[in-house]
Amino acid sequence: MITILRAELVAVGTELLLGEIVDTNSAYLAQELAARSVDVYWSQRVGDNRGRITEAITAALGRSDLVVLCGGLGPTDDDLTREAIADAVGEVPAIDPELEAGLRSRFSRFSRSMPAGNLKQAWLIPSAEPLANANGTAPGWFVRTRVGDRIKVVAALPGPPRELVPMWEEQVLPRLAFPAATFAARTLKTFGVGESHLAERLVGLTERANPSVATYAKRDGVHVRVAAKAADHDLAAALLAPVVDEVRLRLAGHVWGEDADELADLVLTRLRLTGHTLCVVDGATGGALTDLLGSVVPPSGAAVGSEPLVGAVIAWRDEALALLGVAYEPSAGRIPSSDSEAAALAAHLAEQGRARCAADYGVGIAPWWTAPAETAPDRPTVGSAWAVTGPGGTEARAVTAPHSGHAARRERLAFTALVALWTQLSTT
Ligand code: AMP
Ligand code: MG
Repeated sequence: MITILRAELVAVGTELLLGEIVDTNSAYLAQELAARSVDVYWSQRVGDNRGRITEAITAALGRSDLVVLCGGLGPTDDDLTREAIADAVGEVPAIDPELEAGLRSRFSRFSRSMPAGNLKQAWLIPSAEPLANANGTAPGWFVRTRVGDRIKVVAALPGPPRELVPMWEEQVLPRLAFPAATFAARTLKTFGVGESHLAERLVGLTERANPSVATYAKRDGVHVRVAAKAADHDLAAALLAPVVDEVRLRLAGHVWGEDADELADLVLTRLRLTGHTLCVVDGATGGALTDLLGSVVPPSGAAVGSEPLVGAVIAWRDEALALLGVAYEPSAGRIPSSDSEAAALAAHLAEQGRARCAADYGVGIAPWWTAPAETAPDRPTVGSAWAVTGPGGTEARAVTAPHSGHAARRERLAFTALVALWTQLSTT
């Protein structure tokens, strides 16, 4: 069996280049290969053009042990993957009688006559082994070919994921061997430090190859992924641990979770464990904060009315706030006009919401306000504030945001408030 150290993906289809379909096959295959410690240094996408597909295969064969192609195995004239593989390895396709019989019986089972175009799905080249397709008419190809003094593999899989996935798992994987090395990885989830500042704090770590340290900006903050590769899992874990500790140390105060942790889930789980409740009064995120909290699936068997989130009020005006018996403070005005007014208003909303709902914790979010251009000529001019109140007291902070990107701004504010709540919950 051929051991695959380095693989390369080639997704075929003009629709991919036009952005009409998303290349989920490459994402799936990349994850599959990474999980087996195979290095993937290139992933190509190429249209339905025989010459360019051939070029892509030839380049890939020159530098990788395994080339996985997907798409272009259909019956029509623009399905050219078979032709291109044949060109790349210098062979000529011919109809395989066994494949042809299989195809014909498949069509007759569905009481249909076989269109002439489908005959090319019965093609093989001498170095190709067919891969059975339980979910469609196109067999895959498993090609062993010599490049210099090495035997390399080209695997061609059909485009539809429901055909590709079983063929990969059941037909391709058993024909390959993978490195003994295994990966260990940990993702630390941070909030409140921008990606470039975070990278500065990680200087000296991000340049290393093993363990590798990489940052990824996500909607819930920046994720830092530490990954180690070694001969077995224990060695990889031992390599990983000190680097994870070092990253935690450098990012102290900004890491809220790791791996599969979701912030809203952590918050609600903590509240549930301590038997505490929460009320939200939201004048700015338009429900984004409530949506985060409401997306958490309650534990099975949780009784209605037993969940920690007592309620949330999304209110732009006093008439709505009055439903809760809460009002924007007349002295502060309904719309704040400075950072300190915004923070005071957020605190007021949090405290009133908490009191009216008899909750243990309250979160308040002040309405957005815009500083007049003359007082803030060169800073982001849209502001709000969050406040968290609980047994440990009230904390409120004004935030500024760029003028554009309303939805992103609301979501960011929601996460900011949630991080503040999480911080208070984990320190009291
Ligand atoms: P093809 O085999 O190229 O004719 O592709 C057939 C169908 O498979 C396409 O219409 C898509 O629905 C799907 N497909 C093809 N390539 C991909 C890909 N890279 N990722 C996800 N779906 C794909
Ligand atoms: Mg196609």
